[in-house]
Amino acid sequence: MDLDYKKNDLSQVIAADKAHVWHHLSQHKQYETTDPRVFVEGKGLKLWDATGREFLDAVSGGVWTVNVGYGRESIANAVRDQLIKLNYYAGAAGNVPAALFAEKLIEKMPGMSRVYYSNSGSEANEKVYKMVRQIAHRKHGGKKWKILYRERDYHGTTIGTLATSGQPQRAEQYGPYPEGFVSVPHCLEYRKQWDVEDYGRRAADAIEEVILREGPETVGAIVLEPVTAGGGVILPPRGYWERVQEICRKYDILLHIDEVVCGLGRTGLWFGYQQYGIEPDFVTMAKGVASGYAAISCTVTTERVFDLFKEDPSDSMSYFRDISTFGGCTSGPVAALENMRIIEEEGLLENTIAMGARCMANLKALQEKHAVIGDVRGLGLFLGAELVKDRSAKEPVDEKQAQAVVAECLAQGVIIGATNRSLPGFNNTLCLSPALTVTAEEIDRITDAIDVALTKVFG
Ligand code: PMP
Repeated sequence: MDLDYKKNDLSQVIAADKAHVWHHLSQHKQYETTDPRVFVEGKGLKLWDATGREFLDAVSGGVWTVNVGYGRESIANAVRDQLIKLNYYAGAAGNVPAALFAEKLIEKMPGMSRVYYSNSGSEANEKVYKMVRQIAHRKHGGKKWKILYRERDYHGTTIGTLATSGQPQRAEQYGPYPEGFVSVPHCLEYRKQWDVEDYGRRAADAIEEVILREGPETVGAIVLEPVTAGGGVILPPRGYWERVQEICRKYDILLHIDEVVCGLGRTGLWFGYQQYGIEPDFVTMAKGVASGYAAISCTVTTERVFDLFKEDPSDSMSYFRDISTFGGCTSGPVAALENMRIIEEEGLLENTIAMGARCMANLKALQEKHAVIGDVRGLGLFLGAELVKDRSAKEPVDEKQAQAVVAECLAQGVIIGATNRSLPGFNNTLCLSPALTVTAEEIDRITDAIDVALTKVFG
């Protein structure tokens, strides 16, 4: 088939898609009532669909992924050259880009030391859960096997990671789940659970209460997003992370930071945890690592954790007995190397801070104008606007209304996101996460579209 989309009629592609593709996150009535949108080309933040229509993508491929923007020939060329040399070898052998990317990555992560490769955010997180369980067996007589997670956070789509889903609707109907995953309260200050001054410290103290209830000798790790993404763009309150770190040290609990969204520049630093001076034991990352040019995820840990898996002559099972078949693909790390070079050489961290500030200022101006915006929050190019029926009661708008705003933006050719079907009653936050290359004109176009959409939906 001739794949020159701009010249061809793509009705065959649309018919094939409609007949045979089972799309992610889609309700079946959609297949019956509408043609699927099929994207065919991208450049920077621009996307074109099969009908030739142009869009401005303010969510980096729908889910915070394409950090360096679409159409990067240098990444395509680096991957092509590497695939011709060597595409793959699995298991205990190394390969050139995997070694070089690990070295570069660790340079950006003082205190960390080892990189374990796999393919998706869920998989990277599962690797940590397995490591924690194995450490419990090897070092704590089978105890310290529980893993804590936080309400509203999300860590993936496998059964293991769904067992740590703080977003109930994602986990519904897929149980029963494995034991030993325990929830702690969320820390969203806008929706305070405790009426106290020092909210950050109080929210972290709530974690200690769960640890004491479960028994500190049973808790091995806690997994947290540095800034919660799909759960509503939640920035931890002041004082929160210091206290979390203190609690982890006090009870010898490993701290796992899920950087699947924040990783590789989204907040304006290489990693979200670096905004807060956190010293994690595990860091996982996926989406921005290669900006969607190849499937790659990394589980990064310290030499101290790595050493816990050193061969024990009396135990032939003591090493980490895990493999990821496609963790042996060279396309991931070679794309990741080029992705990192682009972020550095084009000054994209600096651009993220500058454009993030502009976007925040624009959203604050919209908040002045539209009473429906109850709260605006974010860090770098990771922003959210929570919509409420009235500001004093903070009652969330209906999920359908938040979706109507997304649809009205789409009608203007701007793709934004919203928390959707994951938190009953709270799917009311508009989400923005444009590529880190975004310009001032593009930021203004995105927030202008939201302005128009809010007026249409709420008057
Ligand atoms: N962790 C976080 C914070 C995420 O947002 C996601 C994906 N949205 C995942 C993990 C899972 O990543 P994946 O879909 O690549 O398995």
